[in-house]
Formats: sequence, structure tokens, C-alpha cells
Amino acid sequence: MTASKYKRVLLKLSGEALMGDDAFGINRQTIARMVEEIVDVARLGVELAIVIGGGNIFRGVAPGAQGMDRATADYMGMMATIMNALALQDALKRSSVDARVQSALNIDQVVEPYIRPKALRYLEEGKVVIFAAGTGNPFFTTDTAAALRGAEIGAEIVLKATKVDGIYTADPKKDPTATRYSRISFDEAINRRLEVMDATAFALCRDQKLPIKVFSITKHGALGRAVMGEDEGTLVHV
Ligand code: UDP
Repeated sequence: MTASKYKRVLLKLSGEALMGDDAFGINRQTIARMVEEIVDVARLGVELAIVIGGGNIFRGVAPGAQGMDRATADYMGMMATIMNALALQDALKRSSVDARVQSALNIDQVVEPYIRPKALRYLEEGKVVIFAAGTGNPFFTTDTAAALRGAEIGAEIVLKATKVDGIYTADPKKDPTATRYSRISFDEAINRRLEVMDATAFALCRDQKLPIKVFSITKHGALGRAVMGEDEGTLVHV
């Protein structure tokens, strides 16, 4: 039995979350700290699936990809997410957490393909499942992959880890009077033109009545508090 509010969650980690203060790539201390947070949640008995981004390595719409065919650049971006997924799996394994990577793009020698029933079985067995390669399609993002996989596995919530501890009335860096929403409805977020996730991801969560929690990955214990249903970050509800 777990005392957490949610039994099954989908955590979206951006590539930048692995970068720490570095300009690109994977920062060892940052990934170690993140693993600590994930381990705590896994030990609560919460079924945890993770969609990992790739922005720390390659982004299809980045200046570096300019002039490239967009679909080709996006496939490179998806491959970057596979590298991050393998790094995260390795780090979890070293913390004695059993994790499996499933990829939306087939690279059989490296990683197993995304197979929904198998992913569900892993979750039931208490393994952390890391979904790599986004949706497997160019012109999408890993935010959309998080909404999609979240809906597919029947997650009760999408936990979106960012560098900011929630959604604010204005940009807190520019406006000192900005305040954080503790909770906000999908409709209100749209009316106030607040950017929670990209539009496709947001629409999918809204249609599927899948709440989103935006919280800071840099704040110690925030992931655990989000899973416990505490007032951490911002809850976007139906
Ligand atoms: N990407 C894609 N389709 C997907 C997911 C990702 O084409 O379903 C590509 C896209 O080029 C994107 C890159 O992979 O820029 C990295 O993903 P994202 O930008 O979502 O990563 P994050 O910002 O979370 O690190």
C-alpha cells in the first residue's frame, strides 16, 4: 500500500533537466540528484513512467538545425532522447532501481521497441519505464509524447518537471509581483494564454481529462511532494 495520492504517474523530464549548469550534454551530478528523487518516489510504490526529452543534445528547431530538412533534424532529436534514456536507465540501475527503456524508433541492438502491454507489465512489476524517441514522429515534441504515453498507460497525472516551480501570473524573472497558481483549470489556462505544455500536448491532456502538474526539478523533494498530492508547483485540472 502506498500513501501517495497517485498510483501511476507519467513524469516528463526535459533534456535540459539533465544538463544542470552546463551548456549541453548530461551533467553527472545533476542526473545523480534527479535519480535520488526518482528513487524516493519509486520506493513509495508508485508506478512511474518517464518520458525524456533531448533538448540538451539536439533540438530539431534549434539554430544548429537551421537549413536542415526539418524531419531529418527531428529524427536526430529523437535519437538524442534515446541517449538520455540510456543514461538515465544506467544511473537508476546504479541506484538499484530496475528500469526499462522502450523506444518509439526501432534500434533493436540498443533498446527494446515500445510495446504497450509490455510497458504496462513492467509498471505492474514495479519497474520504472523510460519512454524514448518521443512519439516516433517528426514535427512533434516530447511533451506530446508525455501526454500520449500518459493517456495510453492510464496515468492519473502528467508531472512536468521544469526549471520553474509552477505556472505564474506573469514571468517571475521580469515581474516581481508575479504569483504562482496553486491550481488552475484547463479552460482558465487557455483564457489567460498561459503556456503549460505545447498546444498539441495540452489539447490531448485536456481531451483525455489527464491533469498536469508543473513543478521544479531543481527543488529538493518536489517530485515526491507532487506525487503525494501536496501543494507543490501548479496543478492544471479539468
Ligand atoms: N522530437 C520529434 N518528435 C517527437 C519528440 C521529439 O521530432 O515526438 C524531436 C524534436 O526535434 C525535438 C527533439 O526531438 O526538438 C527533442 O525533444 P524536445 O524538444 O521535446 O526535448 P526537451 O525540450 O524536452 O528536452
